[in-house]
Amino acid sequence: MDPIRIGIVGLGKIARDQHIPAIRGNGNFDIAATVSPHSPPMDGIAHFATLEDLIENGPAVDAVALCTPPQVRYDIAVTALKTGMHVFLEKPPGATLAEVEALKDRADKVGTTLFASWHSRFAAGVAPARAWLSERTVKSAKIIWREDVRVWHPGQDWIWEPGGLGVFDPGINALSIITHILPRPIFLKDATLSLPANRAAPIAADIAFQDTAGAPVHMDLDWRQTGPQSWDIIVETDAGELKLSSGGAVITTPRGTEHNEDLEYAGLYARFANLIRGGRSDVDVAPLRLVADAFLRGRREAVEEFHD
Ligand code: NAP
Repeated sequence: MDPIRIGIVGLGKIARDQHIPAIRGNGNFDIAATVSPHSPPMDGIAHFATLEDLIENGPAVDAVALCTPPQVRYDIAVTALKTGMHVFLEKPPGATLAEVEALKDRADKVGTTLFASWHSRFAAGVAPARAWLSERTVKSAKIIWREDVRVWHPGQDWIWEPGGLGVFDPGINALSIITHILPRPIFLKDATLSLPANRAAPIAADIAFQDTAGAPVHMDLDWRQTGPQSWDIIVETDAGELKLSSGGAVITTPRGTEHNEDLEYAGLYARFANLIRGGRSDVDVAPLRLVADAFLRGRREAVEEFHD
């Protein structure tokens, strides 16, 4: 089978750290070109400032991975879909729910693949956690996602702008896991969003969800954590506790602890290739919907200004 010629749009941190190595490690893909308005090109790969420039003047491309901030992704995705390209959306898939639905409709009409990726769902402990929980009754769950924004997002102004999600940028990863592993859907009951007085997006959030059988799910998100970082989900069940730690990589149940190799982006690209070869799309907006509900229903409190 011919390799899928792929372009990478948005040559920032995640494109360089994860997408390029994962694509190079997957024989289904060839990197054909990169697109980024300001970032320097990579050795030996055709580079363009815009997707339009790539389409007009560049090599043929079958698919694109959109690794830009979410606020600019919709217009780029439309340009790609109009040209018949398959589209991989980094998380979150867009800046609004309606624009993601519009992209899905457009992809369905032109018959190309749209993949709304959730990399944390491919963390090593997530599939075993989903299987373990499918046979248990959930009593409650806790999400503790506390990290140091200065370490993980230095100088990323877009993340503090409307649509950048603030602390929900990492928090949505936890929601992508919990919506995948719990046997029942959850919905938001109450939320407090803490916004620095000089920023448009929250630096912390405290959220109460509930599943459809009434089990409470508490979420503690904080970007002001220094020292040890926490990316943990703990689920209490009728058969004991399940803990996912290190962002889903490590799973602990009453049977013991399993550490497995981190293959999140390898898993994403294996899935993208399967979707393209099978002529299908995968667009699950459940994590983004919960974030949208937090902004819709949550009360805001002003906290100390944040400066990088
Ligand atoms: P980043 O380092 O700020 O990179 C974003 C890149 O997008 C920039 O290099 C910028 O290119 C490019 N860009 C901006 N507007 C563009 C446009 N109109 N057309 C083409 N390129 C454009 O951000 P990031 O951390 O990589 O995050 C990008 C996305 O990946 C976000 O949705 C984020 O949630 C997700 N993600 C990030 C991580 C992480 O650990 N950082 C992990 C998983 C997922 P120029 O420099 O050329 O202007």
